[in-house]
Amino acid sequence: MSLLNIVNLSKKFSTINRQVTALSSITLAVEEKEFFVLLGPSGCGKSTLLNLIAGLEQPSGGEISLGATIFSSRAKRIHIAPRDRNIAMVFQNYALYPHMNVAENIEFPLKIRGISKDKRVAMVLEAAQMLELDKVLQAKPGELSGGQRQRVAIARAIVRKPSLFLLDEPLSNLDAKLRASTRNNLKLLQKRLGITTIYVTHDQVEAMTLGDRIALLNNGHIEQIGTPQELYNNPVNHFVATFIGSPPMNLFTLNVTFNNNQYGFIVNGTKIELPDSLVKQIKKTTQTILLGVRPENIEIKPEPSKDSIEVTVTGIERLGRETIIYAVCESVSVSLISSNLVPQIGEKVTIVLDLFKAHVFEKPKSDVN
Ligand code: ADP
Ligand code: MG
Repeated sequence: MSLLNIVNLSKKFSTINRQVTALSSITLAVEEKEFFVLLGPSGCGKSTLLNLIAGLEQPSGGEISLGATIFSSRAKRIHIAPRDRNIAMVFQNYALYPHMNVAENIEFPLKIRGISKDKRVAMVLEAAQMLELDKVLQAKPGELSGGQRQRVAIARAIVRKPSLFLLDEPLSNLDAKLRASTRNNLKLLQKRLGITTIYVTHDQVEAMTLGDRIALLNNGHIEQIGTPQELYNNPVNHFVATFIGSPPMNLFTLNVTFNNNQYGFIVNGTKIELPDSLVKQIKKTTQTILLGVRPENIEIKPEPSKDSIEVTVTGIERLGRETIIYAVCESVSVSLISSNLVPQIGEKVTIVLDLFKAHVFEKPKSDVN
């Protein structure tokens, strides 16, 4: 059985003039020792979900349980207080006690739980060593760098060996380089300690590098749950397809025609042949769908061919080993990654889409292009 089980959870907030549905029909399970990421755009309900797990908010419906213990259930009128859940939490704006030194900050949660002095000293030292803070134990927070302060907050959260470790965008305040190194340390530490962790971020790179699995949220519901590879390789819809990956997957409007018992596909004016694997995914009644192609699966060719498309280059971003090229064909934008041919802005080039690596999606009701 999974460690954390969330079933059909919902949360509505009532404000003076309206009701906000922050979460609806959230069902997910987190395994023991798993690093589970809640990913999604700002306002999609990530923090609300984390607060419900911590017990800081009460659900409007559904149930949360850890092992055999029900944490919250609206129907059964159960709500276990945050302090009785053995959960540790680190926020983006974590607050350290400024008048206490590093050792005292880490020790604080042990002290209020009445753990003996001898045990406390040993536990603080263990946590400090793991987070490379043993040399700054006597320093006050004001004397530390941003990265060190963040590590103190993490040490303080994990020192009492919680059954669940919740982090809400904990690295957002750090600069890019520090964010990457802290990310690595956090992942190593989590695996070493084996603490089941739920990590909230809006940053897909952070989610892809940290998560054993990711739940991608959008507008209060779950779009897809899976490993980073599953979300990248098999996105279930156009939202997942374009949220994961940078630059995002290209989406082209595809008009399906049925003539002489054959399907024809027109992509922005160019007739192309789709491989059977893609044709099988298209519902026969569908007339307009989306064809998704990742930038790395589009190639610039020196010569035109029967399935090449001519585009005009509008922008170039050199990243070192590879270059991102932005182009347009009529009014449709396309981005691709090239590692050898780098054209000039304004130049016309021919491109070929690798349709064996393409995806088809239903066109959503609200237009995306
Ligand atoms: P995220 O963390 O993904 O950015 P939140 O969980 O903070 O999103 O918010 C989800 C939605 O719920 C937003 O529309 C937000 O405005 C709303 N919301 C969150 N907390 C409250 C609250 N206490 N009162 C009213 N609305 C809230
Ligand atoms: Mg948030």
